Amino acid sequence: MMSGPKGCEGSLSSLQCSLCGRKGEELFEVAGEPGRCCIDCSADLAAEDILAAEIDSGTLAGRNVGELAAEWEELAARILQRSQSAELGPY
Ligand SMILES: [Zn+2]
Repeated sequence: MMSGPKGCEGSLSSLQCSLCGRKGEELFEVAGEPGRCCIDCSADLAAEDILAAEIDSGTLAGRNVGELAAEWEELAARILQRSQSAELGPY
């Protein structure tokens, strides 16, 4: 449970990426994610999001999304791997 003061950000160094656990990085809010992520993770998550949306709309339109799906899987695996290698604290 988080109950920090609102409207006032604490020092960046006390925060860590919610995905890879990297500290001392500038963190960004990512839509659909509970915490904040470093630039690398937020970029990957954003790309994953975009791919997923493209796959969705492609599927609806009856297009072949095999290539996109493969790309998405690769990306998702990389993100998962990164979050598992972090294993920091009780999050
Ligand atoms: Zn990160």
